[in-house]
Amino acid sequence: MRIIDEVKDAKTIAIGGHVRPDGDCIGSVMGLYLYLKRVMPKAEIDVYLDKPADIFQCISHIEDIKSEFNTNKVYDVFVALDTTDERLGDAEPIYRNACKKINIDHHISNSGCGDVSIVEPKRSSTAELLYDLMEPEMVDEEIAKAIYIGIAHDTGVFRYSNTSPRTLQIVAELIKFGFDFSKIVEETFFEKTYLQTQIMGRAVLESVRFMHERCIVSMVSRRMMEFYCVTPKDLDGIVNHLQSVKGVDCAIFMYETGTLEYKVSMRSNGKVDVAAIAMKFGGGGHVRAAGCTMNGTYHDNINNLSIEIAEQLKNE
Ligand code: 5GP
Ligand code: MN
Repeated sequence: MRIIDEVKDAKTIAIGGHVRPDGDCIGSVMGLYLYLKRVMPKAEIDVYLDKPADIFQCISHIEDIKSEFNTNKVYDVFVALDTTDERLGDAEPIYRNACKKINIDHHISNSGCGDVSIVEPKRSSTAELLYDLMEPEMVDEEIAKAIYIGIAHDTGVFRYSNTSPRTLQIVAELIKFGFDFSKIVEETFFEKTYLQTQIMGRAVLESVRFMHERCIVSMVSRRMMEFYCVTPKDLDGIVNHLQSVKGVDCAIFMYETGTLEYKVSMRSNGKVDVAAIAMKFGGGGHVRAAGCTMNGTYHDNINNLSIEIAEQLKNE
């Protein structure tokens, strides 16, 4: 299937992704936007997404993203990328109103929410899947860069087990365009500001292991975020850092989003299916990386997650 076959008759197209967009979401949304602008120059194309972190300024036309969603506009097509409709945030009503809904995703927790749904959980990233829906000869350097960022971020720079031979074949095709991929990876994935590094250090310092040291957890409160002058976007990478501790099967990181409300990120080495746990609490994701929002005290949340983790490890 080619994406163009599904959208070619549309005069107005909207593209959106999930709330708190990550590298794959932003790379996919921008990759598709740049691609459709190229192959359908007459179509009117809008992008709806929460404001991306500043590191993504390297993506061409990122300033075209609309982060104000007050619109009654009815689009011929809405393409929702890297998400289900429930996580589209304020763009959800626009999606619902669209004449044709297309859903492209790689989350195992997504059962498909479009008139056309392409959900492939084996794909490393939505960006990888999207590339295979494009006509390669219509991909240019700027599109390639956006797709590359999506794949690089969701594979932890081609390290995670979701990296397949196809992933690397696509990456090989993309880097032929000659953009400075090393600089992109350094500046969008590895580089941290001093304050980001400090709060990461604090979270690691205060982490606690439990369940015979097979699990590790840490939390950042709103007060801590204020103290270090950081926002949730600055907390990316902390949970991966915790997961890299030797002997850990499951890492949990939470940050406070409101009174008795926490955003939870989980990572696993495969022994624990964190997608299944996140789905029990209304979230979703992948077997080895998932998240949800939980209400209750920090300790209640750890207890509730521990019960699920213990249940899974018991069946090991
Ligand atoms: P992260 O921990 O990096 O925020 O997310 C890990 C994975 O789980 C990502 O693929 C992300 O899209 C997914 N995820 C995180 N939080 C949620 C959530 O609240 N709901 C759903 N459905 N997926 C989530
Ligand atoms: Mn993704």
